[in-house]
This record gives sequence, C-alpha cells and structure tokens, in this order.
Amino acid sequence: MKTIILGGGLAGVTLANMLSAKGETVFVLEQETSPGGLCRSEVSDGFTFDTGGSHIIFSRDLEVLSFIHNVLGKNRAERIRNTKILYKDRYVKYPFENALSELPREDCYYCLHEYIKTLMRSEKGEFSPPENFEEWILQIFGKGIADCYLIPYNTKIWNYPPSLMSAHWMEGRVPRPPVEDILKSAVGIPTEGYTHQAVFSYPVDGGIESLVHAIAAPIKDRIITGFRVTSISQKDGGYSVSNGRQTYTGDRIISTIPLQNLIPCLENVPGGVQKAVSDLKYNSVISIGIGISGDVPPYSWAYIPDSDVSRANRISFPSNFSDNAAPQGCSSVLAEITYNEGDFVSLMTDAEIVDHVTTSIAKIGLFSHDQILTTNVTKNQYAYVVYDLDYLKNIAIIRDYFSTGGISLVGRFSQFEYLNMDGVIRSVMNFIRDMK
Ligand SMILES: Cc1cc2nc3c(=O)[nH]c(=O)nc-3n(C[C@H](O)[C@H](O)[C@H](O)COP(=O)(O)OP(=O)(O)OC[C@H]3O[C@@H](n4cnc5c(N)ncnc54)[C@H](O)[C@@H]3O)c2cc1C
Repeated sequence: MKTIILGGGLAGVTLANMLSAKGETVFVLEQETSPGGLCRSEVSDGFTFDTGGSHIIFSRDLEVLSFIHNVLGKNRAERIRNTKILYKDRYVKYPFENALSELPREDCYYCLHEYIKTLMRSEKGEFSPPENFEEWILQIFGKGIADCYLIPYNTKIWNYPPSLMSAHWMEGRVPRPPVEDILKSAVGIPTEGYTHQAVFSYPVDGGIESLVHAIAAPIKDRIITGFRVTSISQKDGGYSVSNGRQTYTGDRIISTIPLQNLIPCLENVPGGVQKAVSDLKYNSVISIGIGISGDVPPYSWAYIPDSDVSRANRISFPSNFSDNAAPQGCSSVLAEITYNEGDFVSLMTDAEIVDHVTTSIAKIGLFSHDQILTTNVTKNQYAYVVYDLDYLKNIAIIRDYFSTGGISLVGRFSQFEYLNMDGVIRSVMNFIRDMK
C-alpha cells in the first residue's frame, strides 16, 4: 500500500511515522519549505519563538503523552503552570473562577452572588439546554464571571460573538467548577482548576517545532516540501496528486490540510458540499515574538480580556518554559492576536502590529521599549476552528460526503475540530487502529 499524506504539520508527520513503522510506503506533501504547520518555531537573534502561537505539552491522554515524552527524550523541560489573567490593574490567578478573592471586593461579590443565583436556578431545573455558547457560560458560571471575564475574553479570542457560537463543544473541554471551589476561591482558600495542565512540558531546544522534527526523524526522506497540492484525480483505483508541475501517485490519500484547501483540488464536488465548506468559520492568528534584555515576571502566560488594554488576547513567556529559549540575561514574550481577513487587524502592517503590541505591553509595565532586542511577526491563516451555530449542520454534510470512501480526513483543519496536539495524535492513533 502506497499512501500519500497531504500536509506536513503534526498530523501529517505523525501519520507518516506510524504508517511507516507498520511497513507502509508513505509520502508527505507539504507546501511550505519545512514541516511543522502550526507547530513551527523560528530563531531570531538567539531567541526561539513558536510562530503558530505559544505551545505547551499537556494531556489527559496518557498514551499520547507518553508517546510525546518518549519521542522528545531528554529534550524536554517540565514546568509548573503559573498562569494569570490581567484583570483591571492586577494579575489574578487562572482560571478566573479560582481567583475570585483576588478581584476588587465589589467584583468578587458580584461574581459570587450571580454564581449562587445561577446555581439555585439550575438546582430548580429552571434552565433549558443552552442554545449557544454565551448561554452555556451564563448557565454554568453566572452573569458575574461571564461579564467580568468569560464573555470579553471569548469574544476577543474567537473574534466572534459567543452568542452566535454553538455550545456543543464545551462539555468535557471546560470542566464545571465544583461549588466548593467557587466558595473557597471567593474567601481566599487556594484551589486549582484545569489540573491536567498544572504541570506541562516544553522542548529544551528548538521550540515546539523540535517535537515535529523528532517525530519526523525516521521518515525525513519521505517528506516533500515546497509542494502545494493543487489537484487530485482518481484513476484505475489509484490517485494522482499534483502541484501543477510534478505528480505523485498512490493507492490511498490521507488529507491533513484544511478542508478549504482540499475542496478546490477535487473534481465534481457537489455544490452543497462546497457551500458547507465555504460556510465553515475559522480565525487566523498573528504571533509576535519579542526578545528583551532583562527579566520577565515568573508567569507561564497571561490572558488579556480587555481589548482596550491590548489587541493581544494572550502573552506568553517562552523563556520561562525553557532556559534555552532566550540568550543568557535575556527573556522572551510571545503575544497572540486573532483576526479574520478584512478586519482592522488584517489591514495592519507588521510594523504597526509590533508597535501596537510593544507599546501596549510596555504600558502594563512588563518591559520598556529600550529593553527590546528583537521582534518576529508571523501570520497563520488557519488557527482556530470557530464553532458557529451552523457548524454541526455543515460538518455533517462534509463528513457524509467523505465517508463514502476515498480520501480520509485527519488533523485539526481537516477534521475541522478544535484539536490540540494531543487530540491530533489521538486522531492519528485511532485512524491507524481502525484502518482497513
Ligand atoms: C495560537 C495557538 C496555540 C496553540 N497552543 C497549543 C498548545 O499549547 N498545546 C497544544 O497541544 N496544542 C496547541 N495548539 C494546537 C496545535 O497547534 C494543533 O493541534 C496542531 O498543530 C495541528 O496540527 P495539524 O497537522 O492538524 O494542522 P496544521 O499544523 O495546520 O498542518 C497542516 C499542514 O498542511 C499544510 N498545507 C495546507 N494546505 C496545503 C496544500 N494545498 N498542499 C500542501 N500542504 C498544505 C500546511 O502548510 C501545514 O503544514 C495551538 C494552536 C494555536 C493556533
């Protein structure tokens, strides 16, 4: 069996690694000059920045976690999460519901009061199933936590109103906080949320891209870079994949590229499927790496819900993940801004983006302009799947079409699911387990 894998991000290289270990012949066709996709990293003046946004390694899935740990071997540092939310003038603990006592007293009261009112309504069975993501937030956390943090932050990161997003994907992803934790949090007894992420790891050298390289090592010569797939045709039970100049043939195709890139490569796709794909929503991310002389706070990362403070929704501190991410005596900051083509951010030049981000971060006191040694701006078109209210309808049409045989879909923008790295590797493992 000769398999052609479209896309050389984490999904593509993991598929190639695992299929090749089973004795299959594989080729990975990747449009960029190196594999990695969202898991790419760049070195700029001695600073290593992840260019698809800040990445850390964590998972509840122990089989996947041990695969990642084994493949990285000694190139892995472990850290205890120390994450904050910049709320008004202070850094409060993350998750927000575990930090109520750190808020101004009036805000703490507002969040607790609304939470208790919501809990009572929930206990009385007054809620019908949430019709959208905003309703889900309000029914679980109450209006206080929603108004102070969850609604502004989610509006900012998705670049889409939570009231127009589906609620189906929240169950299992964001745990319902135990009542005791909210009460303890309000009176100042320490509690931890999202404990599966409380200890995380990160490559010592090479940024997150080194994970992809480690997985790709046994099949390096099977990855063809600079090959943008533009057409796929089927003949005599096999496939031909072309970039307009060269053609690869195989018995099977697994696509890890975004559906939006795959569909135009195919022949005779029904109009309904084309429309469903073009109606899927996603956003893009700009990653702004900033290398500075001196120190940063001992935080892992900080969320910035308030758009008036900065357009960045999150700033991370890679030099706190690995000692080798920045030269000695220096530190690094990585800011992320989500956007969509045509909006204000998409029209900003790189220089304007750097100016906005460095000025807003300097204003909150993390560094001064004269400490900046280097900056690095990268844009990724496909960053987050946005689960709008038509998502379930559209994805069902698309999956139904692809389920009739032919091309298999594996990976974040191919399955069109909010999959983190562990979810992508789990999808690959499941695909290989179930394949015929
Ligand atoms: C801001 C941000 C932060 C994140 N942080 C974390 C984190 O901390 N921890 C975590 O576990 N996960 C994190 N993730 C998720 C993680 O990045 C993804 O789960 C993972 O990288 C997806 O891999 P993939 O191979 O499915 O997709 P991609 O990385 O998108 O790979 C797809 C590949 O296909 C290629 N391609 C596209 N079109 C074509 C074409 N026509 N021809 C050939 N090649 C093509 C692309 O160049 C790319 O290399 C984060 C994601 C974002 C956006």
